[in-house]
This record gives sequence, C-alpha cells and structure tokens, in this order.
Amino acid sequence: MTLTLKDITYSYKENTQNYTILEDLNYTFEAGKLYTIMGPSGAGKTTLLSIASGLTSPIEGSISYGETDIYRMGITKYRKECTSIIFQAYNLIPYMTAYQNVKAALKIKKHKEKDLKKYIEKSLNDVGLDETMIYKNVLRLSGGQQQRVAVARALAAESPIIFADEPTGNLDQKTSQGIIDMLKEIALVEKKCVIMVTHDLGIAKQADVALLLKERTLVNME
Ligand code: ADP
Ligand code: ADP
Repeated sequence: MTLTLKDITYSYKENTQNYTILEDLNYTFEAGKLYTIMGPSGAGKTTLLSIASGLTSPIEGSISYGETDIYRMGITKYRKECTSIIFQAYNLIPYMTAYQNVKAALKIKKHKEKDLKKYIEKSLNDVGLDETMIYKNVLRLSGGQQQRVAVARALAAESPIIFADEPTGNLDQKTSQGIIDMLKEIALVEKKCVIMVTHDLGIAKQADVALLLKERTLVNME
C-alpha cells in the first residue's frame, strides 16, 4: 500500500489576495512506517493532512491510494475504508463510554454481535485501557486515557492509513511518549501508514521518516 501525493498545489483567496500554501508537492508514503511532519505554525500542515485524507480538495494535483486515484475510487469510500484520523482534542463523542465510542466508529460491520464485544474490548485493552475504564463515560477519563480511546477507535476501524494532527499536543511528556510508542508499534507490527503532525522535535526524531513542510513542499528533515 502506498499513498501518493502528486503535484499538489493549494491556495486560498482572502481579501482579493491569493495565498499559495502548498505548491507542486510530491511525496509517496508507504505502509509500515511512522511519518512525522513538522513546520512553522501556518505552514499548511493541517491543510496537507486534510488534503491527503480527502477532506479538502487541492487546487491542482492528484492523490492516489496504491494505483487508484482517490476521486476515481470515490472520496466517501476512500475516507471510510482507507483512513482514520486522530485529533489533538481527541474528538470523542461525549457522554458515551469508551466502548461506545469505539463501537460507533466501526465502519465495516463484519463482526457478529458477540464477536463484536470481544473485538471492541480487545481494541481498548490493546491501548492499555482495562475493564474499569472502558465502561466509563469518556469525560471521566484523563486526557491521556481519552487519547488512548481515540487511538483504539482509529485502530478498530482497521484503516490502512492513520492521520494524526498533533495527537500529543495536550498531553504531558510521559503520556505523549506512551502514545508515540503505540503509534510506532502500530506502523511496524500492523503495517499501517501513520502520518503525524507534531511540534515536538523529540517526537519527530523517533519517526521512521521525519519530514518538514518548508517553502510549500515536503522535504526530509536534516
Ligand atoms: P499549520 O497546520 O501548519 O499551522 P494550516 O494548514 O492550519 O497550517 O494553515 C495554513 C494557513 O493557511 C493558516 O494561516 C490558515 O489560516 C490558512 N488557511 C488555510 N486554508 C484556508 C482557507 N480555506 N481560508 C482561509 N485561510 C486558510
Ligand atoms: P493548527 O493545526 O496549526 O493549530 P488550525 O488547523 O486549527 O491550526 O488552523 C489555524 C487557523 O487556520 C485557524 O484560525 C483556522 O480557522 C484557519 N483555517 C484552517 N483551515 C481553514 C479553512 N479550510 N478555511 C478557513 N480557515 C481555515
């Protein structure tokens, strides 16, 4: 599996001015790797994730999943079957338990009801949440635990590509490290393509590939 961004350009208009934030950006992401993207605030990192995940259309260029253009595949299908997103603010459904949050995110209903329960519990156990936590309202969990639920939710959906936009932005260093260790392992063991925006150089250095958004394109970090 590869995700290829080809000649991506993105600009927007504001007060009759045209701002180009991405220009002729080319990059191929591969399965089994954790990628980090750093860059100054406003460089276009969130916009890039948004384009790569099919939420925003580029002005020019194409995005391919394997050999297939995602617009040809159908953007809804691409988003549903190929991608999961982890946000800085967790974006869990409040007033639901961790269990219900994961259940709500299962996109492809291929599990029988009794297997489903096992599957959801295992997804949550795998990210270090035990029985005392998974049936709690998510608002009663700590930030780190909530982000673990978000990771479990992304994993349970079994998408080959996981996007994460500053997933540790609200967490202390030790908790952040736990989340990063998990994302690294997920890439390696489950052969997922994990693409993460971060502001933390210490985290970026742990990536398989550390990238920098610089002068409107992606370059390898030195
Ligand atoms: P980063 O994630 O690197 O901080 P963003 O992708 O969030 O950067 O945004 C880059 C810049 O482009 C920001 O200044 C943002 O306000 C601006 N921007 C992006 N898309 C639009 C848009 N459609 N309309 C107005 N401003 C936009
Ligand atoms: P960051 O990820 O760097 O914290 P955000 O993605 O939250 O930044 O966006 C930074 C600013 O860009 C915000 O003010 C947001 O409203 C603006 N922005 C980003 N994308 C768009 C867009 N598509 N249209 C309008 N404004 C946007």
